[in-house]
Amino acid sequence: MKPTNLNTDDFKYFVEQFDDIRVLKYKLPGFENLSPRQKEYIYYLSQASLAGRDILWDQNFRHNLLIRKTLEAIIGNYTGDKETTDYKAFMLYAKKVFFANGIHHHYSNDKFKPGFNAGFFAKLINGTKYKDLPLSKGQSSDQLIAFLTPILCDERLFPRKVEQKSGADMIAESASNFYEGVKQKEVEEFYAGKTIPDDTHPISIGLNSRVVKVNGKVTEEVYKSGGKYGAAINKIIQWLEKAINAAEIEKQKDELKILIEYYKTGDLKKWDEYNIAWVRNTSPMVDYINGFIEIYEDPLGMKATWEAIVDYTDLEATKRTKIITDNAQWFEDHSPIHAKYRKEKVKGVAARVINIAMLGGDCYPASPLGINLPNANWIRKEVGSKSVTLANITNAYDVASQGNGFLEEFASDQAEVERIKKYGSISDALHTDLHECVGHASGKLAEGTDPNALKNYASPLEEARADLFALYYMMDKKLLELGLLPNEDAAKASYDAYLRNGLLTQIVRIKPGKDIEEAHMRNRSAISHWVYEKGKTENVVEFFKYGGKSHVKINDYRKLRTLFGELLKEVQRVKSEGDYEAGKSIIEDFGVKVDHKLHAEILSRYEKLNLAPYTGFVNPKLIPVFNTIGEITDVEVEYVNDYLDQMLEYGRDYSFL
Ligand SMILES: [Zn+2]
Repeated sequence: MKPTNLNTDDFKYFVEQFDDIRVLKYKLPGFENLSPRQKEYIYYLSQASLAGRDILWDQNFRHNLLIRKTLEAIIGNYTGDKETTDYKAFMLYAKKVFFANGIHHHYSNDKFKPGFNAGFFAKLINGTKYKDLPLSKGQSSDQLIAFLTPILCDERLFPRKVEQKSGADMIAESASNFYEGVKQKEVEEFYAGKTIPDDTHPISIGLNSRVVKVNGKVTEEVYKSGGKYGAAINKIIQWLEKAINAAEIEKQKDELKILIEYYKTGDLKKWDEYNIAWVRNTSPMVDYINGFIEIYEDPLGMKATWEAIVDYTDLEATKRTKIITDNAQWFEDHSPIHAKYRKEKVKGVAARVINIAMLGGDCYPASPLGINLPNANWIRKEVGSKSVTLANITNAYDVASQGNGFLEEFASDQAEVERIKKYGSISDALHTDLHECVGHASGKLAEGTDPNALKNYASPLEEARADLFALYYMMDKKLLELGLLPNEDAAKASYDAYLRNGLLTQIVRIKPGKDIEEAHMRNRSAISHWVYEKGKTENVVEFFKYGGKSHVKINDYRKLRTLFGELLKEVQRVKSEGDYEAGKSIIEDFGVKVDHKLHAEILSRYEKLNLAPYTGFVNPKLIPVFNTIGEITDVEVEYVNDYLDQMLEYGRDYSFL
C-alpha cells in the first residue's frame, strides 16, 4: 500500500507569518473523487460552518463585533496614508484580532496592546467616511472614537478574556461574554437549584446560554432561533436544511433534523438526543461538527463556544488504521508485556482518519489536530464516542515545518535531517495510529486493581503506555510485512524525532526556571530520559556537543527498541497492579525536572530561528457549479493565498449579528 502522507507534492502550505502567528493553508486530497452528492452535502455543511462566525466573536467579548466592523471599515475605506509606521502597526493589530476572533490572544487570553496610540486611532476613524462606519442610530464618529478608544487602548480595561485565578471573582475578571451584570456567586446559586440529584442522564446545564440580570432577576438568554444569536442561528438552520436533502443516508437526515430542532428550541435534551444519533452514525464518508461544544472559554466551565467543521474520510489512511485494527490481536499477543496482563481478546479502536473541508467558529483559524466527541460522560459510556485525527491539517503542519531551520538546528546530522524529510510525515501518522488504535486498547488490569489507583500520574502513564506500544512496534518487521512502513529508515526517523523532542526541544514551550507540568510532555520526557539512563553504559543514546551546541544521537536503534519494550512492560505492570509508588517514580524521576543550563541553551537557539509558536489556517473556497435549473452538479476547490482577504470576505459575507 502506498503511504498517503509522503511529502512529495509541491503544494505551498505557507501563507503568512506575523507576530507570534503562522498562517498556513491545507489541502483537500481526494476531494475530486467524492461523488457530486457528497460534494454538495459538504458545500451546504461548509456554509453552515461559516454562518455562525459572528457568534464566537460576540461570545469572546461583547464589543468584539463592533470592533471588528470598525477595523473592516477602516481597512476598506481609510483615505489617509497607508505607508506610515502607524498604519502598519494598525494592520498588524487588525490581523491579530482577526486571528483571535477578538481583541484577546486566542491562547494566552491577554488583551492585545495596539502598536499605535489613541490619537492615531481617532485619525483612522476620521479618515474613513461617515457612511462606511458601523455607527448606531444617531451616533457620531466622535462618539464611536470616545467609546472604542479606552476599550482598545486602556490596559486596565478588560485585560483578560478568561481569568481562572482562584480567589478572584472569575466572572467579573473575565472579559468573555457568557455573563453580564451578575456575580459569580449569583450564577452559582442560579444553577445550583437546576441540577437533578442522582440523574444518570443529566443534560449539560447552562451549555447554550448567557446569564444576565433583568430587572434585578438573574435570567438565561438561550442561544436559539428567536433568542440570543437567533439571526445567525437561523442562517445555520437554513444551510442544514439544504444539507438534509443532499445527505446520503437516512441516518444523517434524521440526525440533522434533531440538530435543527435543537437550534430552534435551545432544548438541551434535544442536544443529547442529537449527539446520540451522531455517535451512532459511525462511519459516514462525510461528517461534521456544528454546535456549542467546548467549555474552555467559560471561567466557570459550563458555557460552550460555537464551533464547526466539515470533514470527509481519508480512505487511504483509514485503510492504514483498518490494517492495524485488523491485526490488533497479533500486536497484543506479541507485546513485550507480562503474559498475564495481555488481553485474550483485544478490540482495536476504530479511529477515522479525516480530511478537513472547512473550519468554522472556534476551530478557525487555529484548528485542533484530533477530536473526540461528544463531551457528555454518560453518552460516552453508554453509546460511545467518535474519535478522528485530522490528516490534512497534520500534514500541513509537518510539511510547512520543514525548511524553517528547526530540524537543521537540532538534528544530530544531515542523515537524520534527510530521514525526517523523507519519512517524517508517514512515521508520525503511523505512530499516532498505533498509539490510538491499539496502544490505549492494549493490556488489562489485575483482578481487584482500583482503576483510579495511579491518581495524578494516571494520565502521563497512560500516554506513556500508548506511546511505548507504538515505539516498540515501529521497529518491528511486521510493519514492513503489512505494508505500513516503506523501510527501516522510516522507523529510525520515528525514533530520532521522539528522542530529539523528549530530550531536547519540547522544553521550548516551558518558561525558564519551570518544571514540566503537562501530561503529554511529562510522558515524552519520562520515556526519553528513562531509555537514555538505562542505555547509558552501552551508549545506546548519547548527548554530544557540536560547535558548543547540544545534540542527541542514537547509536543503537535495535537496543533502543528493547529498552522501549522493557519500559512498556514496567508501565503496563504499574497500571495492571495499580502500583502508585512505582508509577510516581517513573514520572517524577524522569519526566518532570528540566536541566536549567540545557534549557537556557535550547531557548536561546530556538529564539534565533524566529519561529511563530502558534499556527492557524485559511480555508479553501468551495465553489458550487450549477446546472441550468439551479441544481448543484459539482463543487470546485479554490485555494486561498491571502489571509487578510479571507478575513474581509468572511466579514462581508457571513456577518449576521
Ligand atoms: Zn493518547
